[in-house]
Amino acid sequence: MLILPEFKLERPKSLAEALDAARRADGKCDFLGGGTDLLCNYKWGINTRPVVISLRGIAEMNRRDGRRVGGGVTLASLERDADFLDAFPGFRGALARLASPLIRETGTVAGNILLDTRCIWLNQTEFARKALGNCLKADGPECRVVKGSTDRCYANYSGDTAPLFMVHGASARLASPRGERSVPLTSFFRIDGITRFVKERDEVLVSLDMPPDAAEIRSSYQKLRVREAWDFAEVATAVGVRFDGPASKKRIGELRIVANAVASIPLWLEDVAKPFAGRTLDEATIDAIGDSVTAAVQPVRATWLPPSYRKQMAGVMAKRALREIAAGVA
Ligand SMILES: Cc1cc2nc3c(=O)[nH]c(=O)nc-3n(C[C@H](O)[C@H](O)[C@H](O)COP(=O)(O)OP(=O)(O)OC[C@H]3O[C@@H](n4cnc5c(N)ncnc54)[C@H](O)[C@@H]3O)c2cc1C
Ligand code: SF4
Repeated sequence: MLILPEFKLERPKSLAEALDAARRADGKCDFLGGGTDLLCNYKWGINTRPVVISLRGIAEMNRRDGRRVGGGVTLASLERDADFLDAFPGFRGALARLASPLIRETGTVAGNILLDTRCIWLNQTEFARKALGNCLKADGPECRVVKGSTDRCYANYSGDTAPLFMVHGASARLASPRGERSVPLTSFFRIDGITRFVKERDEVLVSLDMPPDAAEIRSSYQKLRVREAWDFAEVATAVGVRFDGPASKKRIGELRIVANAVASIPLWLEDVAKPFAGRTLDEATIDAIGDSVTAAVQPVRATWLPPSYRKQMAGVMAKRALREIAAGVA
C-alpha cells in the first residue's frame, strides 16, 4: 500500500491568505487543487514538500465568470457548463476523454494545466526507482531516457486542456506576493520536464482568461491512449481554425496547431500552421497539414508506445481534428 508522507496542510480562505502561507513556507510548499496528480506523486515519494496549501476554500477561484475560468473550477463542472461548451465545443470531446468521471469531479482546471510531466522511468514507486537507478528529475545525476543528459529532463506533458486553451488564445493569470501578471499560454511552458513553465513556485494560477474573439476559433482535440476507459495521452493534437468568410467556403484565415504528449510541453506549431493560411480546407490540405505535423515532432521513449508510432499518429490526430472542423462537427 502506498502511504502519503507527512506534511502540514494549510487551508486559506482567500487568495491573500494563500500567498501569505506560501511566503511563510519560504518556497518549501506545493499548492493543492483536487490533488489527483500531486498526491499520487507524493505517495510515490516524488519531490515531496513539507507544506501543502489547499486552494479549495478560495471562492473566487471556483467559478467561471464569462471568458474567465477560475483555476479551481473542477473539470466535471466545466463539462456540465453548457454555455462554455457551446462557445468552445472542442472542449466537449477533450473533457469527456480526460481521466475518469470520478477524477474529473475532483481535478481542477489549474491542476490540469500544471499537471506534472510523466515518464515511464519516474512514475514508479520509490522502491522501483531505486532499483532501476534514480534519474535527474528525482535525486539522480542524469536522464535515463536520453542517456547522458544532465541538464534537461525529457518527461512527457499530457494535460488535455492546455492545448485547447492555447488554440483559443487564453492567458494564465498568476498571483504572487509581488502582484499579478498575465502570461499568454503559448509562452507559458518551458521545454524541460523539471522546470516545465514560467510560473514561479509561490505563484497561484488564479484563472485562465479567454480573449474576446476566442469563440471565433473552431477547435477540435484528438487523443490517442492505450486504454480507452481512462488514460493519459500517448499523443494528441489540438487544432483551431478561424475561417476567412463563411465557414461553408472553408477558406482558412488562420490555423493554430498544438501537438501534445510528444514533448515536455504542449508544442505550439506556429511555423507548421502559418503557410496554410489562405488555403481551402479540403482533403489535400488536410493531408498536407497532417504530414507537416508528423515531420515537426520528435517524441522520445518516455511513454509506453514507441516514439516512431507516436510521431506518425501526431499527424493522424491532426487530420482527424481538421476533418471534424471541416465537417462542422467541432
Ligand atoms: C488514473 C488517473 C488518470 C488520469 N488521466 C488523465 C488524463 O487522461 N488527462 C489529463 O490531463 N490528466 C489526467 N490525470 C491527471 C489529473 O487527474 C488531472 O490532470 C487533474 O486535472 C489534475 O488536477 P488537480 O486539481 O487534481 O491537480 P493537483 O493534483 O491538485 O495539482 C497538480 C499540480 O498543479 C499545482 N496546482 C494545482 N492548482 C494550482 C493553482 N491554482 N495554482 C498553482 N498551482 C496549482 C499543484 O501544486 C501540482 O503541482 C489522471 C490522473 C489519474 C490519477
Ligand atoms: S525524462 Fe529522464 S530525467 Fe526526466 S523523468 Fe524520465 S528518466 Fe528522469
